[in-house]
Amino acid sequence: MNVFVYTLGCRVNQCESEAIAQSFAEHGHTILDSHDNADLVIVNTCTVTSKAEQKARREIRLFAKTAPVLVTGCYAQVNPKEIEGLSDNVVVFPLMRKPELLGLAGFMGDSSQDLDILESITEFAKERHRGYGSLFDFAPSEFSYHSRSYLKIQDGCDNNCGFCRVHIARGPSDSLDSDIVVKRALDIQEKGYHEIVLTGVNLTMYDHRGRGLGGLLEKLLKAVGPDMRFRLSSLEPDHIDDLLLEQLKDPRMQPYFHIPVQSAADKVIKRINRTYDSSHLEYVITRLRQIKDDPFLACDIITGLPGEGDEEFEITRSFLERHGFALMHVFPFSPRPDTALENARDRVPENIRDERALILRNLSAELNKAYVARQVGKTAEVILEGRRMGKWHGITGNYLKVDVTGAPDTASVGDLFKVVIVSENRAEVME
Ligand code: SF4
Repeated sequence: MNVFVYTLGCRVNQCESEAIAQSFAEHGHTILDSHDNADLVIVNTCTVTSKAEQKARREIRLFAKTAPVLVTGCYAQVNPKEIEGLSDNVVVFPLMRKPELLGLAGFMGDSSQDLDILESITEFAKERHRGYGSLFDFAPSEFSYHSRSYLKIQDGCDNNCGFCRVHIARGPSDSLDSDIVVKRALDIQEKGYHEIVLTGVNLTMYDHRGRGLGGLLEKLLKAVGPDMRFRLSSLEPDHIDDLLLEQLKDPRMQPYFHIPVQSAADKVIKRINRTYDSSHLEYVITRLRQIKDDPFLACDIITGLPGEGDEEFEITRSFLERHGFALMHVFPFSPRPDTALENARDRVPENIRDERALILRNLSAELNKAYVARQVGKTAEVILEGRRMGKWHGITGNYLKVDVTGAPDTASVGDLFKVVIVSENRAEVME
């Protein structure tokens, strides 16, 4: 059977999708890169914005024209009825039961079943399947859709940010035991991968009542070899502490940090129910800049959050400019169902919200150009992603997408090389 796994949203979803794809591959099925020729499509959805949901609906409708589609993920958890209504060729599988999907390939291969694919996934969804109960059962060690590996160490979130629906879908924070994290990292290393992306819904909430993410990294960095790199998927500012910052000094920690800043103005930070203030943000970003040489700083920003006046917007804009964020994911605020800000009375008019988004997107483009330009002439490490028309391309530790020249004939996807950045989109392997 040909299976296509389509993923929307965060790196936790990416990691979970890889584990599902691996379980099908292990049962002899072929994993496809697109829905063309697929016998079954699995869609792993996201609910972070209304746009993410819109995109999911559009793709599900398209896929369902040619193959049965099983839909899971955060959106499927919060609004199953809407998804079920898209097509008769769609089966919804709730997020909270997602680990059971690791047993779907086995269920479908069971010779006692005499069902077509749609009947089979419908049957599977009807009843609980034992053996897979934890959201940490997703432990892929082979990756179909990525040249780097993903290791999920945390799920859920104990915060209650006023705009966010993800913690509602995912539930409270939970962390994978550190010994198991180390074991899984060593398994991945054994398979020859050179980079592990540590993922979680709120990564800095990892063991936040104990030694936290910093304590875990300390243990991991001692356990793995010199050729392994770690990338952190996204760091909520609140639990970034000195122990964590200390671990980031290790050269094996990639100089790439994605901070969901949302707003840098105290009035707005408080309004969205976050528990830190702008001085903590300042501290964290300044330290990250000291720890690594010109790291790639990315962020998420929401414009037009309730309470954001001109002054607050300007505080955020100048904060982003001052710290030279190399990439901003800018989202105009739209209230999400069941969140604290759903019916906020201090909403910002849409035209102002959108103007602010445009200002920040332009700023992001400008700062990104400047960031890339100042990397030329520097050395970096690159992991090969693939080959296009005989030319290798890859991603550097600080997240530049480059064509790579001078790789040996024996090179393959996932290999790690030291390079010199020779132009804004080209790197050359060093001797
Ligand atoms: S920290 Fe806030 S925005 Fe992030 S997942 Fe938790 S509740 Fe949502």
